[in-house]
Amino acid sequence: MSSGAAEAYISHFDVQRVRADFPLLSTRINQHPLVYFDNAATTQKPLSVIECLRHYYAEDNANIHRGVHTLSQRATSAFERAREIVRQFLGAKEGAEIIFTRGTTEAINLVAQSYARTQLKAGDEILIGEAEHHANIVPWQILGSQIGTILKVVPVNDAGEITPSALAAALTNRTRLCAFGHVSNALGSINPVAEIVRLARSVGAKVLVDGAQAVAHAPVDVQSLDCDFYAFSGHKLFGPTGIGVLYGKRELLEEMPPYQGGGDMIKTVSFSGTEYADLPHKFEAGTPHIAGAIGLGAAIQYLDGLDRRGALRHEDALLAYATEQARGVSGLRIIGTARDKAAVLSFLIDGTHPQDLGVLLDNQGVAIRTGHHCAMPVMQRFGIPGTARASFAFYNTREEIDYFFTALEKARQMLA
Ligand code: PMP
Repeated sequence: MSSGAAEAYISHFDVQRVRADFPLLSTRINQHPLVYFDNAATTQKPLSVIECLRHYYAEDNANIHRGVHTLSQRATSAFERAREIVRQFLGAKEGAEIIFTRGTTEAINLVAQSYARTQLKAGDEILIGEAEHHANIVPWQILGSQIGTILKVVPVNDAGEITPSALAAALTNRTRLCAFGHVSNALGSINPVAEIVRLARSVGAKVLVDGAQAVAHAPVDVQSLDCDFYAFSGHKLFGPTGIGVLYGKRELLEEMPPYQGGGDMIKTVSFSGTEYADLPHKFEAGTPHIAGAIGLGAAIQYLDGLDRRGALRHEDALLAYATEQARGVSGLRIIGTARDKAAVLSFLIDGTHPQDLGVLLDNQGVAIRTGHHCAMPVMQRFGIPGTARASFAFYNTREEIDYFFTALEKARQMLA
């Protein structure tokens, strides 16, 4: 979107009303009003989510699925209602395709250890992008050391984009799985997921999408994307930490063995053998993060109650405005200049270390992230140890961006 068109939208989205829903946004840090630009690491929580967690523990707390008593039934139905909310949010066909996990990391490990470990063999190729988060690199390296699969990397161009031609060049008839981030946390690039799925299908490969950075920004429909697996984390979607989701197509999940064994994932157990529970419980061994799942449901309901289109445009406008401002700062280099980007401004300033900038910004109330952002290989690709990263959510404002650049200039002068 052009910055002019994007700016026009700023005034239509009532950001002040939305900010009032997030208690922590009105706090002060080091005697300054908080400017929270670390949304790619985790998002703040609206009151409705905080209240939902309080309500669950104060009124409904019990273990799920096993109890006949009233509280257990209440907790179970709230937990399963959360699954249905997630199903609708992702556009999945059925609740059986929604597995609650601890987060994106566990969801990807589940696919690696359950699906890939049993369906792939030595010499089969797994394709990932060069800008992936470690959560979408290391599980495939572990798998390779276990069964001999080969991890191939599709390079990004200088803008930080995966192009369909680079992907096509890396595909072979040994490619069995393509695992790509929907949005890069380090660069903000939005990957062409529909194109990735189309190309993967041309060699019969399955597709896993790491949606950790995508779900908070744009609606996702797994059926229209036609991906096989989609993973995300609750805490990056205004929900609690320790809860996440793996979506998988039923026919694949049915074939897959359990990831972990224990209570709640079985029909019967005897010393001569065990019959596993039906989906999705087969993949949910042990007591889950019940409050987390319910809180995630509340976060999605909160988003559903927002003008999501307006929120998205507002975020686009913030990114366009921040990018424009950044281009005017001498010695500032933006890392990640993809045409399609979401809410992330990663940068370096000549003569300063990102960590020093981070500390001096924090002194002025501004929270950004500095370092390699759990994406060391793409830092190596750009020949840098890390970046400073400002990442936005719909509750951020243009005034905060102005304050950020003023604070950045002060920090830079202090470091000169
Ligand atoms: N993938 C991406 C793109 C991420 O940004 C993150 C979190 N920074 C993860 C995976 C891992 O998410 P979690 O730590 O919530 O499991």
